[in-house]
Amino acid sequence: ITIGVAGETADGERRVALTPETCKKLVARGARVRVQRGAGRKAAFTDEAYADAGAELVADAAAALNDADLVLCVQPPTAQALQQLREGTAVVGLLAPQADAARGDAINARKLLAFPLERLPRTTRAQAMDVLSSQAGMAGYKAVLIAAQLAPRFFPMLTTAAGTIRPSKVLIVGAGVAGLQAIATAKRLGAQVEGFDVRPETREQIESLGGRFLDLGVSAAGEGGYARALTDEERAEQQRRLADHLKGVDVIVCTAAVPGRPAPKIITTTMVEGMKPGSVIVDLAAETGGNCELTRRGESVDHNGVVVDGPLNLASAGAVHASEMYARNLFNFASLFVTDEAAKEGRLAFDWNDELLAKTVWPERATAPAA
Ligand code: NAD
Repeated sequence: ITIGVAGETADGERRVALTPETCKKLVARGARVRVQRGAGRKAAFTDEAYADAGAELVADAAAALNDADLVLCVQPPTAQALQQLREGTAVVGLLAPQADAARGDAINARKLLAFPLERLPRTTRAQAMDVLSSQAGMAGYKAVLIAAQLAPRFFPMLTTAAGTIRPSKVLIVGAGVAGLQAIATAKRLGAQVEGFDVRPETREQIESLGGRFLDLGVSAAGEGGYARALTDEERAEQQRRLADHLKGVDVIVCTAAVPGRPAPKIITTTMVEGMKPGSVIVDLAAETGGNCELTRRGESVDHNGVVVDGPLNLASAGAVHASEMYARNLFNFASLFVTDEAAKEGRLAFDWNDELLAKTVWPERATAPAA
């Protein structure tokens, strides 16, 4: 079995889908691993480290990918790169096949076995493969650090010869994976932290991290452990209670999302106008439209003295650990079909009765793909 990894080419992407650690494990399993020179450089993994882990280093992406049985990536390869893969190649990564028609067409035209990991069912067994969770953890952490950097205040309470500094009040909007990591991080920095979510089980999770649960009187658990979109009445109720509360908040970190939909708009312009000058909003949901009406993708906006920041791809900002986690997730997923046996026989061993494979593969198939 040949596994190929090229350097990521998307703007601002520093992560890599394979680390020397996971490379070594795949090689131990009997796979041949080809890595494009420099693929790990932005995540601080050197070519030498890959070579020591048993990889074959090649000059360009085509040499790494075009003859592979399995391609591992973070961002989707371009449609053009997909077109050059061997027919039937398995491709694993954050492929977002529906986000780009040319990409979807290329996957179909080359009969690729595309495994967009954002489709992976979030079952207990899949946790070790869950890239959305591992990357959201880094994003939540970085979002709080950005907020601390932008804020013209200390986060912790300080008692000094120059008087007492009161701790910053930090509100985390949405307490999923990113939000809970944001709460933990803001708490470690000494802020007074509170959070809310529409899934009722988050109260206990927020409290167990030392945060205060802000009860806005709305409960909207949806399918598969996710939130559902709010009704107009629920949204109005949430906003009414929130508007008043925000007057006393110094920092907001937004992380709310509903799968398959634009980010819910939670913080209105009027609410921002009611906040104290010097307040900061970091909106992790910027990528999908933002939780704040004033958020602009990838930009920082100053609205009457309140800074609204909309960072993109924060997981990439922590490329070393984000890549380590991502690569382990991919290794665990690939282990479903890169078995010792498969390596011996020289072909990937897909068990299409395994829901983790059957539900992740794209396009969805009524019958299992032929072996
Ligand atoms: P996500 O990124 O889709 O959403 C982030 C958070 O925003 C969620 O907690 C959601 O409830 C919240 N939200 C949505 N609309 C909101 C609104 N109007 N106001 C306030 N909050 C709102 O979710 P995620 O972080 O990827 O995961 C959510 C949950 O899925 C996890 O907390 C967990 O319960 C479950 N999950 C399970 C597993 C597993 O068992 N393997 C793995 C990962 C996640």
